Amino acid sequence: MSKSKLEYIWLDGYKPTQSLRSKTKIVDGFSGKLEDAPMWSFDGSSTEQALGGSSDCLLKPVFVCPDPAIENGYLVMTEVLNADGTAHVTNGRATIDDSDDDFWFGFEQEYFLMDPETGKPVGFPAGGYPAPQGPYYCGVGGKNVFGREFKDEHLDLCLAAGLNVEGTNGEVAAGQWEWQIFAKGATQAGDEVWVARFLMERLSEKYGLYIEYHPKPLGQLDWNGSGMHANFSNTYLRTAGSREKVEKVCEAFRGVVKEHIAVYGAYNDQRLTGKHETASINDFSYGVSDRGASIRIPVYTATHGWSGYLEDRRPASNADPYKVAARIIKTVKTVK
Ligand code: ADP
Ligand code: MN
Ligand code: MN
Ligand code: MN
Ligand code: MN
Repeated sequence: MSKSKLEYIWLDGYKPTQSLRSKTKIVDGFSGKLEDAPMWSFDGSSTEQALGGSSDCLLKPVFVCPDPAIENGYLVMTEVLNADGTAHVTNGRATIDDSDDDFWFGFEQEYFLMDPETGKPVGFPAGGYPAPQGPYYCGVGGKNVFGREFKDEHLDLCLAAGLNVEGTNGEVAAGQWEWQIFAKGATQAGDEVWVARFLMERLSEKYGLYIEYHPKPLGQLDWNGSGMHANFSNTYLRTAGSREKVEKVCEAFRGVVKEHIAVYGAYNDQRLTGKHETASINDFSYGVSDRGASIRIPVYTATHGWSGYLEDRRPASNADPYKVAARIIKTVKTVK
């Protein structure tokens, strides 16, 4: 029997931001199918998920794809369960209420590609700053682009793994990039974002670089922060047919700003200042094509008979897509 290498991936219990962990399981003659990926376990006392006295946590496979970088390898996204099989408190995926996959999500993951030698984004000279923002967004040329080879190799890995990446772009700050992943189904979208993050993290090891998910890593200087805009729709939004019905969904978000911000990522107050294409963390606003609003009604939705999707611009680059999706679904489901 051929031996397959299954990389089991999970989210640890670190606060305020959970990180990726993984370990390799050898399985004889693995079929490549989710139902044939066995349950596994790990030492939760080493990941802030259990106490030493009873440290076993379970890993339940939820998503499997080929590992494009490892011969005979597979990536196995898992969720963490307690030893009795119930969902662990750190398991955001288990809080998603979308059993019929009615919710579609497109997440835009922004990040900074960092040089450990300088502790600054690639393209930043040691002890200084590059030219001000302007030429970097979707830029071309050696003066404006830093890390394209990394960005492109990550994209190829995602596509080879079968992830539904929809695009990538250079972002507003130097050394800042974005990719987008879309799925019909909230858990699928979250799974794919986490696997894409895993591929990015592992690729950064090869390049001797690292990924900065902090939403405002360069402080309050005139440099953009990083977000993870959440584009979402359900049958209601996709068939709304009127401005009134679309705005009813937007209004449902108004009274639950705190609840949303609570799962939109740590240090997001540093990013949501009202500047740099953001709305203030204390306000709530929405508008057609408005990139300074909390929720943007895309021009697509407004011009396609008021049927389509919405973009919540508030989630930060370090947010957990499972928790973001779960909270958005909870709010949108109140609208009938
Ligand atoms: P921008 O940078 O202008 O905000 P992007 O192109 O980066 O836009 O991202 C828009 C995202 O919206 C894409 O990832 C896309 O998959 C997603 N999207 C498009 N239609 C829908 C829909 N009906 N439901 C959910 N997401 C959608
Ligand atoms: Mn051991
Ligand atoms: Mn985008
Ligand atoms: Mn962007
Ligand atoms: Mn966006």
